[in-house]
Amino acid sequence: MESATAKPARVGEPSDTSEAAGHTFDVRRPADGSVIRSLAVDQPDRVAEVVARVRAAQPEWEASGFAGRRRWLESLRDWILDHQDEVDDRVQEESGKVRADAALEAFYLLDAINFWCERGPRWLADETVTPHVPLLRHRRAKIVYRPYPVAGIISPWNFPLILSLGDGIPALVAGCALVIKPSEFTPLTLMELVRAWKEDLGAPDVLDVVNGMGDTGGALVDESDFIQFTGSERTGKVVMKRAADTLTPVSLELGGKDPMIVTKDADLDRAANAAAFGGLLNAGQICLSIERVYVEEPVYDEFVAKLQRNVASLRQGADGRTYSAEVGAMTSPNQIAIVSEHVEDARERGARILTGGRRKEGPGDWYEPTVIADADHSMRVMREETFGPVIGVMKVRDADEAVRMANDTTYGLGGAVFAGEAAAGERLARRVEAGTVSVNDLFTTNYSVLGLPMGGWKSSGIGYRHGAVGIRKFCRTESITVPRIRPPKREFLWFPYSPRKRGIVRRLYRLLNARGIRNRLGL
Ligand code: NAD
Repeated sequence: MESATAKPARVGEPSDTSEAAGHTFDVRRPADGSVIRSLAVDQPDRVAEVVARVRAAQPEWEASGFAGRRRWLESLRDWILDHQDEVDDRVQEESGKVRADAALEAFYLLDAINFWCERGPRWLADETVTPHVPLLRHRRAKIVYRPYPVAGIISPWNFPLILSLGDGIPALVAGCALVIKPSEFTPLTLMELVRAWKEDLGAPDVLDVVNGMGDTGGALVDESDFIQFTGSERTGKVVMKRAADTLTPVSLELGGKDPMIVTKDADLDRAANAAAFGGLLNAGQICLSIERVYVEEPVYDEFVAKLQRNVASLRQGADGRTYSAEVGAMTSPNQIAIVSEHVEDARERGARILTGGRRKEGPGDWYEPTVIADADHSMRVMREETFGPVIGVMKVRDADEAVRMANDTTYGLGGAVFAGEAAAGERLARRVEAGTVSVNDLFTTNYSVLGLPMGGWKSSGIGYRHGAVGIRKFCRTESITVPRIRPPKREFLWFPYSPRKRGIVRRLYRLLNARGIRNRLGL
């Protein structure tokens, strides 16, 4: 249903323009606030129906083996390659990203499809275990990875494809069916890819989308066998509680407040360029964004000047296909209020706003790229997730204080250390309490190495994406033992018991578990 109205209602709010008010919601262009499309909210019974349908198709999908599944996923990869411009257009339209940031979504999917199709079979191959008890070595023991029939993914708005289908590719490779509930702010590009999967490729009916807000997400938790959730800490806790009702396992990728440490011997140009890119990529709307920077006193002023110059030179705007801007719009209008509050709080508490610091006038949801100097931990901008184009910078006495401040947070998602010597940087990195830390580099590298697990400590989550764990989590292990030789009618340890048999067993256990010949023989 197309609509041309530019009503400044919030994205994701039930639309009252439709007959079925309350059962639809509007998806808008963050660049100007206009409505792209209204979508029906999928009620719990519809979610149950969709899950039941893909569940019915899953056994055949699993039985088709890695080679069979790979064929379909590679067709999807080729479809994306052939339609990348349209995919990027759509991402831009519903998210407000600049072109270069929008293009990351398709790049990730292309790489991830190839990566999981190649690595998946290796990481999910049967594993042989040699029984540690010599008397059991006549048994073959193996671990078999069996997919959960239906994986559910609930995703946020900041990466409409990477955090939805991107996280689901290992599930499909493993043999799961997949149902995704995208963010109500950004469901359209994913819907287009799922349409292509079904209609253009005619692929098996094991991938679908359900739309809506909390009730739809909750219903997906009820119906799925495994839930991958990416979003806020608050919703993550709600999802985990709901999953407890059905004992459904969850993997939670939640918020962050990622620190950067800059030591006095660091390459300050690289560090300042990295802070600008790591803080403002995707308009700062990344769980792994650099949100706070701790700089050693002797180089603080020089670093701040370089960062200010860099950020002040960035171009903000809707750049279409031209790659002529670095910073885009805020995807969620709700987020702009949080960003403004953090900046005002810092201003009131005595920080210096060196550049930016305001919401842009006019239609759409735009916040200026902002550098805040002389920040400290009394300010929300250094303590709470800002999730916008804002970088707080704080002066510290030395590297020890920097590490202490970096760890002074309830979050533990990522971080970066910039130091003169990489080895010294690594020593500091090992002291940062977070799931991913980069030395003289940023999370963009860390995230691109798909063999590295990525997940949060503390309030940043439970579980991991990427690495072997990133595909094994979509499986249950089945441990199978099989006799190597034809077994007797009855094992020695089976019924009936007798004093003589139990005596032999005791002597045997002593022989195996005691240390030293005399002790083993009970002498
Ligand atoms: P959110 O928690 O508001 O929403 C996430 C998803 O959960 C949406 O699809 C939403 O509709 C759904 N949802 C809302 N209520 C629900 C409920 N009761 N039951 C089930 N699902 C429900 O998060 P957001 O605002 O979309 O995303 C921003 C947050 O995501 C930030 O905190 C950010 O740090 C985090 N994030 C984390 C990672 C990571 O990998 N750790 C990556 C990106 C974003």
